[in-house]
Amino acid sequence: MQLLKGKTALITGGTAGIGKAIACLYAQHGAHVAILGTNQERAAQALQEIEACKVDPEQKFTSFLVNVSNSKEVDEVVEKLLKDWGKIDILVNNAGITKDNLLMKMNEEDWDLVMDVNLKSVYNTCKSLTRPMMKARGGIIINITSVIGLTGNAGQANYAASKSGMIGFTKSLAKELASRNIRANCIAPGYIETQMTASLPEPVKEAILTKIPMSRIGNPRDIAHAALFLASDLAGYITGQVLTVDGGMVM
Ligand code: NDP
Repeated sequence: MQLLKGKTALITGGTAGIGKAIACLYAQHGAHVAILGTNQERAAQALQEIEACKVDPEQKFTSFLVNVSNSKEVDEVVEKLLKDWGKIDILVNNAGITKDNLLMKMNEEDWDLVMDVNLKSVYNTCKSLTRPMMKARGGIIINITSVIGLTGNAGQANYAASKSGMIGFTKSLAKELASRNIRANCIAPGYIETQMTASLPEPVKEAILTKIPMSRIGNPRDIAHAALFLASDLAGYITGQVLTVDGGMVM
């Protein structure tokens, strides 16, 4: 069964990790997919992998090198995609970074960078897309936050603030747009194996693992399945929610 047949999806940070897994699964379910990232090599590789997942020769895939914290760059991409595709049904805000440090040692640059890439980007894409979605009389917005946005974490004040901010933003948008048939939800992943978590020291990884009742680290596909559900009609009556996908880490 193709849950997203003929739908168009824009996925920020679709060039790696969780975003790429979402893009591949959406492709397997019949969607046309555009991914955004900043690294040319990763984007080209990801596009190949996503194309390989297609189920219909008519499906279209494209990538753009864009810094999502730059509103002008985001507007240009949205405009181009709307011209090419006529509509964007699904927006997944997944691009994100960490710049961890204890607050005492955290410089302003790392605060600003994390807020800009993780949170301002969500303002940029949603601002650019809400009007077209309203005109199209429908749309789906999925924002990838984090369990850290729910619990906080020592050494991640910037990251936690950006991820909590996404939740407040999403709930507000859900209320603003529900009557226009636009749903906005968050997914809060726990500890997922990607390049973002690869650099964590082994003792930290082991300590995290002891806090996961399901006793395993998540993989990007675990998050992609939740993103497929929220993008599909199966979630047609769900908006303003945070779906935690973390093997039971936070409950
Ligand atoms: P990765 O580091 O594997 O991928 C991050 C993606 O974001 C890449 O595609 C990267 O593209 C893109 N990106 C980063 N900065 C920018 C930018 N300025 N403009 C455009 N794209 C950008 O991370 P994950 O897959 O692990 O994380 C994806 C999301 O999930 C993030 O928001 C993260 O906070 C969240 N998350 C991850 C968890 C985990 O355990 N992995 C846990 C909880 C939440 P490029 O390299 O081409 O710039």
